[in-house]
Amino acid sequence: MRILLIEDDALLADGLARALRQSDHTIDIASDGFAADTALQAGNYDLAILDLGLPGLDGSELLRRLRGRRQTMPVLVMSARLALEERVRALDIGADDYLVKPVALPELEARIRALARRGRGQPDGALEIGRLRIDVTGKRAWVGDAALELTAREWEALAYLVPRANRIVSKEQLIQALYSWDDDITPNAVEKFVSRLRAKLEPGGIVIRTVRGLGYFLERPA
Ligand code: CA
Repeated sequence: MRILLIEDDALLADGLARALRQSDHTIDIASDGFAADTALQAGNYDLAILDLGLPGLDGSELLRRLRGRRQTMPVLVMSARLALEERVRALDIGADDYLVKPVALPELEARIRALARRGRGQPDGALEIGRLRIDVTGKRAWVGDAALELTAREWEALAYLVPRANRIVSKEQLIQALYSWDDDITPNAVEKFVSRLRAKLEPGGIVIRTVRGLGYFLERPA
C-alpha cells in the first residue's frame, strides 16, 4: 500500500516507516500539518496514518479538511491522548480507526490490513443481520439508516451476540465477554441490559430470544 505517515516525532516516524517498508508498503512521511495537507491533496495514497498532535495544522483539522474534500481514503489516527472523548471525536470527524501510543507494530500492521480489506470493499468487522448492521472496529450499530444509541455494555453484548446469531449464549458467557468493563456483573445485571438492548432492537425487527435456564440468542431473520 501507499501510505502517508503524518507524524512530527522524527524518531518514531523513521522507526515506523522502516518497519512498514519491510512489510512492502511504500511510505511517505509528513512531519507537520501543512505539509501533510499538501501531500494529501497532491498524492494518491491508499491510507493515511495520522498523529493528532501536530505542529502547523492540528491532526483533527487536517482530517476535517480531508473529509471536506470528500477524499475517502482510510485514516488511522494515532494519539498519545487517551481520552475517550478524543477518540470518539476522531471517529466522528472521519477517522476509520485509532491507535493509542505507544503503538505496537503487530497491532498497527493488523489495523492496516483490516483497513486495506475494507478499502477493497470487503468490510472487515462489519456484520449484518436483517436490518441490523454493526461495525465491530468502530463500535457502532445501525438499524436501517438509524444509528443505535447503546451503552458500552449493550454494545459489547450486541457485538458478542451478532456473530453467534441463532446460537444460544449463556449469561455466564456474556458475563465473561463483558468482564473487562466491570468486575462484578451479576446475572441480574445481564438480564437488565439484555432487556434494554432488546427494546432498542425490536422496532427494527431484530429479536433476542430468552431460552429459559440456558441463556439468549439473537434470531437471524428468515
Ligand atoms: Ca505529535
